[in-house]
Amino acid sequence: MTVLVINSGSSSLKYAVVKPASGEFLADGIIEQIGSAQVPDHDAALRAAFDELAGQGLHLDTLGLVAVGHRVVHGGKAFYCPTLIDSELIGKLEELSPLAPLHNPPAILGIEVARKLLPDLPHVAVFDTAFFHNLPAASATYAIDREVAERWDIRRYGFHGTSHEYVSQQAAAFLDRPYESLNQIVLHLGNGASASAIAGGRPVDTSMGMTPMEGLVMGTRSGDIDPGIILFLRRAAGMDVEDIDTMLNRQSGVLGLGGENDFRALRKRIESGDENAQLAYDVYIHRLRKYVGAYLAVLGSTDVISFTAGVGENDATVRRDALAGLSALGIQIDEELNASPSREARRISTPESPVTVLVVPTNEELAIATACAALA
Ligand code: ADP
Repeated sequence: MTVLVINSGSSSLKYAVVKPASGEFLADGIIEQIGSAQVPDHDAALRAAFDELAGQGLHLDTLGLVAVGHRVVHGGKAFYCPTLIDSELIGKLEELSPLAPLHNPPAILGIEVARKLLPDLPHVAVFDTAFFHNLPAASATYAIDREVAERWDIRRYGFHGTSHEYVSQQAAAFLDRPYESLNQIVLHLGNGASASAIAGGRPVDTSMGMTPMEGLVMGTRSGDIDPGIILFLRRAAGMDVEDIDTMLNRQSGVLGLGGENDFRALRKRIESGDENAQLAYDVYIHRLRKYVGAYLAVLGSTDVISFTAGVGENDATVRRDALAGLSALGIQIDEELNASPSREARRISTPESPVTVLVVPTNEELAIATACAALA
């Protein structure tokens, strides 16, 4: 039994062929530069993915595919369970597009071409917001005019939910403890970045909000800023909404401050004495520490802090600096364990540390495939 997982973005389409029962990946890859002469649209991208699979001897009709799983960023208020896709659902997802203008439209394109090319398989939408749909009202609610918020469904939805759920479950399995018995903080640090606080298996706060722009400093997004800045840019600086959107989503974060959004390149600049790169890093770490502190207070105490995604799994310096000097809060990193790389989940705190600190590789494709197999 295998599942084809598709994560369709505006300029790239990621795919994976996964056996959910064993976690085995038969293949995975990414088709980039959608919109170019070579890959003009999502239809061409998916066909290119199928060609790559065929090149590895994997033919869709003989793979034992039982479903196609689609990552959908925003499920709005209505959608959180993995949901079988039909025309009606696509219509409803289109209605949600204003909530996630960068993410939902390309996901819908991916769904439409996949349904066209693989019409006989069930297609399932798995929502990035799902894990957080029951956030307590105190953390999901923005302190703005209640009627405006209700009229426009303005609330904190949270994103990267598939990853936060998967990683927190893996952390519990690693510690051989019941999921419901643990308080956890998960730090998903990729190009996008988010933190979550999980109390006894239930998510109680997360740093991304109505859109993926809130919270931590990210590769190209600002994370938290004073909303007054947006008003100022409109009124005084004459920027229009599209300019502001582009600046905050694509030209901010560590890229906007330090000239690079990849932490390996940022590190090289820091080592060569680039002060802007150093400031970008310092702002990034400062925000991360603030969220760790906030979530410790939200939870009262935590059993586990897990780092995941591209930066969290690979950048030992970020992990060290994020949690340095917190032994008074029960957090002690072992420098040597932290510095030794591994692809497996592992502990990086000292044996005496009351809070266990882990590095847990995320695997959103496997989580999506597992959710689909349960439904197919
Ligand atoms: P996303 O899924 O959000 O695109 P990933 O979780 O794949 O992102 O993370 C990508 C980021 O991870 C890169 O932009 C880079 O900053 C960081 N990264 C990847 N590998 C390393 C590494 N070996 N050392 C430091 N940072 C890394």
